[in-house]
Amino acid sequence: MRGELLALRAGHVFDGVRAAPSGMLLVEDGVILDLDLRGSEPPQEATTVDFGPDAWLLPGFVDAHVHLCWDGTNDAVAHVAADSRTTLFEIARANAARALDVGVTTVRDLGDRDYVTLDLREKLASGEIPEIVAAGPPITTYGGHCHFLGGEAEGAEELLAAVHERAERGCDVVKVMASGGNSTPGSSPLVQQYHPVELSLVIAEARRLCLATAAHAHAADTLAEIAGLGFDTLEHFSFFTPDGVGVRRDVLDEVVWRGTYVSPSVGLLPGHEPTLPEVAKRYASIGAVVGEIIASGARIVPGTDSGVSAAKAHGVYPYALMDLARYGMGNLDVLRAATRVAAEAVGRGETKGRLRPGADADIIVLGRSPLADISAVTEVRAVYRMGERVR
Ligand SMILES: [Zn+2]
Repeated sequence: MRGELLALRAGHVFDGVRAAPSGMLLVEDGVILDLDLRGSEPPQEATTVDFGPDAWLLPGFVDAHVHLCWDGTNDAVAHVAADSRTTLFEIARANAARALDVGVTTVRDLGDRDYVTLDLREKLASGEIPEIVAAGPPITTYGGHCHFLGGEAEGAEELLAAVHERAERGCDVVKVMASGGNSTPGSSPLVQQYHPVELSLVIAEARRLCLATAAHAHAADTLAEIAGLGFDTLEHFSFFTPDGVGVRRDVLDEVVWRGTYVSPSVGLLPGHEPTLPEVAKRYASIGAVVGEIIASGARIVPGTDSGVSAAKAHGVYPYALMDLARYGMGNLDVLRAATRVAAEAVGRGETKGRLRPGADADIIVLGRSPLADISAVTEVRAVYRMGERVR
């Protein structure tokens, strides 16, 4: 409520950087006023919620790669291509609520159809949906990966026009399909879709218009061609070769040196197997690939690709964090990746991903220690969005 002072207390706090015993957050008008680690008593005028000695306060999670208007079934491609805009809006609304429910308070949508996610964030209140960072339809070649989303463009003139359209509509980021993909009939993740000169043009024009850039790339050869171009984030980063996978040391060196954020699309809902054939046949090797990326020191952020299949339905996010831990990332680093680092990667580092004065009061509460056992992230006890409790 406006003007109401809220004090949230718990036995532990993780502020986006480090963990501390005993924390109290003071929140007013949707913003964090203070984080007290000295064990002070709440101010008398505050409404106090004490979650108890075992609970943890954390910044809300950030998912760097979702598809809100994809319905999270194994027919998601057919549905998103054919459904009416009204239906897509309702699907996106339900998926956004689902993300919020598992503690994801910021999403970066890297591929909608017809700019549906821009409508969503304009029309719905923050209590119903996470903060949305939006790409609109990804730029792709004619008939290329996800062409049915409406972002086809080839050649300098069309590519520039595509960047301009996204800027005019209010997108935050330009997403380009640098390689083909798994889910589009006729597209191969091993095939590069654009010449590096075309991609450089997109990056330069986006930067001139203050838009970030994200490139979808599976193929190791494509990653080698584009890692030095200056994309802000590289999506999937899966190092597919014709026979399997093969991490390229030169690519890892390049992204570490540049500080490029990489978003391996890990995370499957329990009881599911990958369904897309090119992923399924490489799935056993993906852990080793992600392990090498982790060991390289590259800036990894969780990006689930939520929505593209039943295994990756919205709500999958906590399982992506568990995968990162399983593949070798320490639990504290997983929490950092899920909050501060991911907020920076999606361009919201000033306001999201940290519990500090002046940051937005997007806060989650866990019932037990995620440092002792990362699976604690699957049991979110409370979610605050801009200071309002939404679950
Ligand atoms: Zn995607």
